[in-house]
Amino acid sequence: MTCLECNKDLGYLDHRNSMESLGVELCSQHKARMEDLMKKKGTPLEAIQLYYGLKKAGVAAMLEWWDGKKSIDIAISRVKLNIEIDAEYHMMTHEQAINDLEETMHSFRNGFTTIRIPHVLVRHYLKETVNNIIGIMEGLKANVKVI
Ligand SMILES: [Zn+2]
Repeated sequence: MTCLECNKDLGYLDHRNSMESLGVELCSQHKARMEDLMKKKGTPLEAIQLYYGLKKAGVAAMLEWWDGKKSIDIAISRVKLNIEIDAEYHMMTHEQAINDLEETMHSFRNGFTTIRIPHVLVRHYLKETVNNIIGIMEGLKANVKVI
């Protein structure tokens, strides 16, 4: 087992600690960095899991990308795709929903596509979620070529 971030070999304890805390294979240093991000920026755990799921599939993404107005959970700049994890999907109010739609509209105007992924999808269908995101990226790439 190696750290997904730096490829350092993971001992049994490092591996177990990281899997228990984040569900992702990271060395103690990178595990601490992710825990810090969650504390300071409120990054959902599922954003970290999806980020590393994408990384494993060869997709270069950015965690907590600042778009000038707000921090995006995961951004894939090559195809201008923003991914937001809906951490409390079931609690969404109509005010939140209209705010989300407005944000989506603004990002579309700037050439960015925003998709919202319920956190339960990352938890239960990580592989399928990653595959669908890759499909979306291919679609976006094809559209950019047309223009
Ligand atoms: Zn590491």
